[in-house]
Amino acid sequence: MPTLLEPTFDWLDRHLLRSPAARIWIARRLSPRFIDRLQRAKFHALVRYAARHSKFYRDSFRERGIDPRRIYSHADLGDFFTTAQDLKTRPIEDFLCAPGECGFETTGTSMGVNKRVYFSYQEMFDYGRDGAAGLYNLGLRREDVVLDGFDYSFWNAPFTAYYSLIPMRCLHIIGGFIEPKELYDRMKVYRPNVLMGVPTHMVRVTEVAEKEGIWPVKFMLLGGENLSERTRAYIESVWQGSRVFLCYGQTENFGMSGIECPQKGGYHVSGLSLVSEIIDPDENGYGEMAYTTLNRSVMPLIRYRSADITRWASNGDCDCGLKVMPRIDKVVGRTDELINCSMGNISPFWFEEILRDVPAVSNDWQVIVRRGERDDAVEIHLELNNGASHEGIRQQVLANIESRFPDCWRYYTKGFFALDIQFHPRHSLAGDGRKLRRLIDARRDAWSQ
Ligand SMILES: [Zn+2]
Repeated sequence: MPTLLEPTFDWLDRHLLRSPAARIWIARRLSPRFIDRLQRAKFHALVRYAARHSKFYRDSFRERGIDPRRIYSHADLGDFFTTAQDLKTRPIEDFLCAPGECGFETTGTSMGVNKRVYFSYQEMFDYGRDGAAGLYNLGLRREDVVLDGFDYSFWNAPFTAYYSLIPMRCLHIIGGFIEPKELYDRMKVYRPNVLMGVPTHMVRVTEVAEKEGIWPVKFMLLGGENLSERTRAYIESVWQGSRVFLCYGQTENFGMSGIECPQKGGYHVSGLSLVSEIIDPDENGYGEMAYTTLNRSVMPLIRYRSADITRWASNGDCDCGLKVMPRIDKVVGRTDELINCSMGNISPFWFEEILRDVPAVSNDWQVIVRRGERDDAVEIHLELNNGASHEGIRQQVLANIESRFPDCWRYYTKGFFALDIQFHPRHSLAGDGRKLRRLIDARRDAWSQ
């Protein structure tokens, strides 16, 4: 049954809760029970709206015998999900409930078709208010100077930053994804004390700053790809006194699935604009995240499989301004990046852990799994920092596998897989691509030859 809760809250949200400080003040006082009730009301309204206006949802619900009038939660949808495959194979018009005003594409690693997602300006403003609350929670204030180095080509990360900064009203300098030395030289005059960008680019900018000098930076907010703890520690060590935070998002969700807690214990996800779920968690709680976008009217996604693997964060309760919002742990990989091989069910997270304290190699690395003579052959490609000893690194990598992944070590000592560590000069692995594909399963190619 429709209630007044959802339209009333939306009105309050847009008109009275525009300032980030007010949003955090209110967020601190919301009860989990209220959030749950609001989520159910919004979810119910959204499912009915999508069934009326989107061909994809109308057809899918009809085929599965789902009656939108009876749906209040993900559980009510049984085994129905929206998948990346749906976005790739169906025309975008099937998903649209209203005309789009801004269109973006996913930067995904899979070949061929990019997923397209459309938004209205109103939706981007709405996301921006949540983003601003997240930034305020990390310490951003009106008097700060922000510089962003995002690439504008087809993806929405820079617009996520842009709309999140509008309610903050601080000075925002748009540097863009330009050559790191040029970005450093040009931003220097503004003395930005908050930096935003993608990890691989900001690492390069940090390398320049390490040589040429730093200024006080309050924090950095990085997103668009994963950041290993060793990279985070490196950036923080150069920009002394700065803290590096991550946001987690996808183009499908305007890059706004979650923002890191100031205590770094995972990402807070907005319970007011998102219903989130971890599908089929394993014994450690890890599973694929699925979500529904509650505040969208152009192209809402219902129970969308994100392909990102994470779990609910459990490491103690935080006391930040977003403490009532659910928190997810670091994303350990994507379902399409997990490779099941004789080394184990490996993910990029494994190699981040293995290389975490190996300072002689750079942050660009790649792992290729090939079909060996009998079992799999795993190649780890590393970039050497400055003429470090190959043998020393090899020993350190093996020692880390032994201490951090004992099962994997057992398989190795029994000869279940071959391990080949190959060394390359700096900056040779990433090439021109924005994202270095961390894990490559080359066995499939071998089969098809
Ligand atoms: Zn927190």
